[in-house]
Amino acid sequence: MTTVDLRSDTVTKPTAGMLEAMFNAKVGDDVFGEDETINLLEQKAADIFGMEAGIYCPSGTMTNQIAIKCFTQPLDELIADQTAHVYRYEGGGIAFNSGVSTRLLNGYRGILTAEMIEPEINADNIHYPHTSLVVLENTVNKGGGSCYTLDQIKPIAELCKAKGLKLHLDGARIFNALAYTGDKAADYGKYFNGISVCLSKGLGAPVGSVLLADRDTIKYARRIRKVLGGGMRQAGFLAAAGIYALDHHVERLKIDHAHAQILADALSKSSAVTNVLPAETNIVLFDTVEPAEAVLQKLASQGIQAMSTDKHRIRFVLHLDVHPEQIEHVVSIIGSLV
Ligand SMILES: *Cc1c(COP(=O)(O)O)cnc(C)c1O
Repeated sequence: MTTVDLRSDTVTKPTAGMLEAMFNAKVGDDVFGEDETINLLEQKAADIFGMEAGIYCPSGTMTNQIAIKCFTQPLDELIADQTAHVYRYEGGGIAFNSGVSTRLLNGYRGILTAEMIEPEINADNIHYPHTSLVVLENTVNKGGGSCYTLDQIKPIAELCKAKGLKLHLDGARIFNALAYTGDKAADYGKYFNGISVCLSKGLGAPVGSVLLADRDTIKYARRIRKVLGGGMRQAGFLAAAGIYALDHHVERLKIDHAHAQILADALSKSSAVTNVLPAETNIVLFDTVEPAEAVLQKLASQGIQAMSTDKHRIRFVLHLDVHPEQIEHVVSIIGSLV
């Protein structure tokens, strides 16, 4: 039976080319700064986004948490959308690691505007926590892969600058956003103090994220990574997969987006589905007549794995291990759902 894993874009396995790059990596002790493959990856990622420097970390949770620690002091407050990964899915790390409170806003599919943010910045008064950071997510995971364009980001960046706030991007799927909007990665560095990029989502590396910022911030970030236990020695074998992913797996993201579109179209014709959110990138969110669990069971019996994000909502995530014949299979099963 055809099997298809649409649970997440983190389920991909390294390709033969990626494995070869990993085997051939030149490595050293990265805690001494001597792993040339990691150094190369950090500089390459920084250059792509127009940032000065980078730090390679085991996960996107760690890069986000390090950024929040770098850009705040205990007792501060950060502003994020209520769907934000940094708030919902990082185990309460904002409070634990940084001693910072979180002001949650209600964006549209996770997308915020400067008008929403401005009134939520606290006045300078000892009763209020000091607002010091805004965190945006692009694409928004819980928004179903919704995107900011740079034109939407600019006014937020200007507001942050005028009010003395730092601006961090959780760019776990930033390359998906770039593929959709057509914006240039190199322009991002102008607007953000920090950018976290996941190599292990749609880009298909087995492990790793990079945090990008200016040199001083990254120097401090190395201290924070150390205290979180994130120093990884000869991790150049893993960083080589990241370099390979940046070289070979960015262009192809548009295939995942086309696949998402095909599935969204099929779902919108199904009587078992009440609503399909516009599929901008590689994520499709849809609402089901029956409870999501019942629909997931029917899909699983046909070899299709997915996850629910609510009682009547299911998420499909496309990635590089989903091929056209598998998409055909999913479309035919969607057609048989009642
Ligand atoms: C996956 C993800 C992260 C990082 O997750 P890790 O599993 O820790 O690498 C951060 N932000 C968003 C939006 C994500 O989807």
